[in-house]
Amino acid sequence: MQNSRVYNFAAGPSTLPLPVLERAAAEMTNYGGSGMSVMEMSHRSKVYENIFNAAQDKLRAALRIPDGYRILFLQGGATLQFAAVALNLIGKTGKADYAITGNFSNNAYKEGKKYGQCRIAASSADRDHVYIPTQDQLDIDPEASYFHYCANNTVYGTEWKYIPDTGSVTLVSDMSSDILSRPVDVSRFGIIYAGAQKNMACAGVTVVIVREDILEGCLPITPAIIDYKLQISKNSMYNTPPAYNVYILGLVLDWLAELGGIEEMEKIKSKRAAMLYECIDDSRMFIGRADKEARSDMNVTFHTDSEELDAKFVSEATQAGFVNLKGYRTLGGMRVSIYNAMPMEGVEKLVDFMRAFEKNN
Ligand SMILES: *Cc1c(COP(=O)(O)O)cnc(C)c1O
Repeated sequence: MQNSRVYNFAAGPSTLPLPVLERAAAEMTNYGGSGMSVMEMSHRSKVYENIFNAAQDKLRAALRIPDGYRILFLQGGATLQFAAVALNLIGKTGKADYAITGNFSNNAYKEGKKYGQCRIAASSADRDHVYIPTQDQLDIDPEASYFHYCANNTVYGTEWKYIPDTGSVTLVSDMSSDILSRPVDVSRFGIIYAGAQKNMACAGVTVVIVREDILEGCLPITPAIIDYKLQISKNSMYNTPPAYNVYILGLVLDWLAELGGIEEMEKIKSKRAAMLYECIDDSRMFIGRADKEARSDMNVTFHTDSEELDAKFVSEATQAGFVNLKGYRTLGGMRVSIYNAMPMEGVEKLVDFMRAFEKNN
């Protein structure tokens, strides 16, 4: 049995900050003198309401979310939002545009198509998603109810380095795997959503940031629990919210604020990624998967020229305490997910390990 913590490079659920886990452990059986765990509280109690509203306030402060935007904490993962976005918005014109830059954006598109006329406005499928389309390559229909894109492609290891200009078309983004890693101009978006288990908390809570005045196209068939207007009117408590996960999110946001906030996080994540890409670029064994201009700072994908060597690398890395480095099941190779909570030391040591592995093989 493992008796010390490993460096966990999992793509999600993924590593959480140790101080957060320790605080949650310390508060596990008796939160703030309440005599009970946060897991055991009524979501309508005063003590829990404070936890919930504070988490919203901390997120608003961290991302500088402007007035006019509401924050929802929902269940169902980012995947439920693929349907929710369409159900809430597509009624405006019956049409929507999607950029397909990986498997999650493709899933969003497939889900959207169930509820209206969805169109592919840009795609990187022609080169197996190693790049991100440029602004010029976005063919946006001015009649679209919204344009949807996935900001960071968790599986393929690419990220949008710019916010698409969609004119008057509402912009919607899945930020599940890069939210809180860099400042973002929220005012450019109609909706930002993200599952928590990459960069924010444990699996089970999904954050939806909604500009309230765009909500005019909700289809009558929309299930109540994902009806944004209804959930806004109930402060995400139409039904029981993912109560404990929101508490963990609050602790993560405290940790982020103590660290210096999102600007500091951007510096840290850029440094982490640069170390890994430098190692890959210097190497004659490791080959980066994505085009350089499109490389993700969150999910670093690479491979060697042999599947056996890839497997040997993953296996020896695991032995050395660097776990979950195997690439996505359909892509092979390696994927190093370096979300906010990954300590710098983890990446430094992994790079040393990669250099030594290359020398010995
Ligand atoms: C992980 C992930 C998803 C899926 O999230 P679930 O919570 O499993 O539904 C969607 N989009 C992106 C970008 C992801 O990284």
